Amino acid sequence: MKVYISVDIEGIGCVVRSEHSSPQGREFQWARKRMTEEVNAAVAGAFAAGASEVVVADSHNVGLNLLADQLDSRVRLVMGAPRALSMMEGVQLGFDAAFLVGYHAMAGTADGVIVHTYTGRIASVAVNGTPVGEIGLSAALAGHYHVPVVLVTGDDKAVREARSHLGDVETVEVKKGLGAYAALCLSPRACNEKIREAAQRALQRAHCTAPFRVETPVELTVGFTTASSVDRVTAIPGVRRVDGTTAVAACEDILHAFRIFHLMTDLVELTPFI
Ligand SMILES: [Zn+2]
Repeated sequence: MKVYISVDIEGIGCVVRSEHSSPQGREFQWARKRMTEEVNAAVAGAFAAGASEVVVADSHNVGLNLLADQLDSRVRLVMGAPRALSMMEGVQLGFDAAFLVGYHAMAGTADGVIVHTYTGRIASVAVNGTPVGEIGLSAALAGHYHVPVVLVTGDDKAVREARSHLGDVETVEVKKGLGAYAALCLSPRACNEKIREAAQRALQRAHCTAPFRVETPVELTVGFTTASSVDRVTAIPGVRRVDGTTAVAACEDILHAFRIFHLMTDLVELTPFI
């Protein structure tokens, strides 16, 4: 059984602020060690459940977070950026199941730790009218390639969001969000143990989980924090403004919608303050 793991940093246990998640942050070196530990726990659970191959995608920032020399030597690592499928690069190679480790809730979620959707300039994303964040987008991309997401780890709001999209998926709540940058956290050791156990359980019942498929065609709706962002993204063919801060695009499928969304995030970050 081939397993794909996409890992972000904001939903790792004991990660609560940009001091942890920003490469310039004073706690970043510690946070990337934590991220590596939680990935190793998920990998251990996957192999214990009979995985034959595991690919890990380092999916925070520019994909240079995991400590490669401390990572389980049985895995292969997707690292670096830019990459077309971003957080899910590599999933197109064909897998039987996917894990989303260290994920966080969508932009605007109350009491979710370090919530956002790709960039701070995105206020909301909806696919066929359903609000999605990074969990929904990643699960939908996996689903496009017929890969079911069978495990999601993060704070309680990420877990709630994962269940809203994926139903009775295996989850690990590593912390309870108390605000945007505060949480009640389990110990790192407890997080690692829970993730290893959940990964094993998740793979054991992976065959009962359907991929998350988005109906076609796909209407993509993106809300921005500024009107100038919409001025920019309407330069993309097929994207039109519906109000001051909202743009829509009619897309063939989720892959097409994701490509447009990903291009929007790049465009609005070119000039961060305008
Ligand atoms: Zn993220």
